[in-house]
Amino acid sequence: MKLAALGEVMVELAPQASVDSGQGGKALLAQSYAGDTYNTAVYIARGGVDVSYVTLLGDDPYSEEVLTRLAGEGIDTSAIARLPGRCPGLYMIQNTPDGERYFTYWRGEAPARELFADATRREALAAYLQEMDCIYLSGITLAIMTPEARAELLTFLEGYRARGGRVAFDSNYRPRLWASADTARAAVAEFLQQTDMALLTFEDEQALWGDKRPGSCVKRNTGFGVSELVIKRGAEPVLLQFDGELSAIDVPRVSSVVDTTGAGDSFNAGYLAARLQGTSPEASIAAGNRCAARVIGHRGAIIPRAEYLAVEPE
Ligand code: ADP
Repeated sequence: MKLAALGEVMVELAPQASVDSGQGGKALLAQSYAGDTYNTAVYIARGGVDVSYVTLLGDDPYSEEVLTRLAGEGIDTSAIARLPGRCPGLYMIQNTPDGERYFTYWRGEAPARELFADATRREALAAYLQEMDCIYLSGITLAIMTPEARAELLTFLEGYRARGGRVAFDSNYRPRLWASADTARAAVAEFLQQTDMALLTFEDEQALWGDKRPGSCVKRNTGFGVSELVIKRGAEPVLLQFDGELSAIDVPRVSSVVDTTGAGDSFNAGYLAARLQGTSPEASIAAGNRCAARVIGHRGAIIPRAEYLAVEPE
């Protein structure tokens, strides 16, 4: 079994502490790397499934470091294209006075935006992806692509599925990345019609579609032809629609939630790693919950590998 995750990884700057320089506060920043599909790829690999990460990077030291980190996780980087003179996108996290986290992004010129855009590279990538058992992408992957490239990817996925490939998708709705909510809905709807496993977060579905209850989310997605639908709802039970049946699976209590960044991404990883290794959807949800529990007990989206593998969830 091999899965390819498509998307963007960014440089992350997160505040660690404040120092008073005498000219007002200064933040000490910790630098790392994250991105929804990247986070999921890392945890799927840690779950024992072969993973390839597919993106575009530059030829700067940060792009080099991303490749080193991916390789350190045992992730295949052979389908990553490098654009000369470019560098990855960047985001900064700010802790607001009310205890929330605020994200600011510099990613408009990120190389990942050219995913599936260039005809020659696209042809090679399509041939490569065809060999995968599963392709994972998110609403963020779609949002950063050009509309033309999105259309090309959609056409590719139709053929890929017809030849037996499976597609997993998380809508991960980020309004700021889309020209309008209508554009987002239209694109997400098209891709859900080419999705086998939809791993959605109810909050995002509400923001994108205005769902009042999970029932409308289930109805819409089964209408799109999604045969395996998982709806994450934070600490609330995860909903599963599979084989025509709707069930709710409890989320075990996590005694100290330190940082929920990457909760949904790591849940998806736990779920997909289990599913691809032949586990039932119900038991895969439990695996998703366990993976997320490990991640939200620590600061940051990617917890160090040794620490992750050492920690058994409660
Ligand atoms: P997202 O990160 O996409 O907003 P959710 O907040 O719905 O996703 O969380 C995804 C998963 O993370 C949940 O299904 C659950 O497994 C876990 N999780 C999130 N918040 C909590 C919590 N407070 N307690 C226990 N598990 C949680």
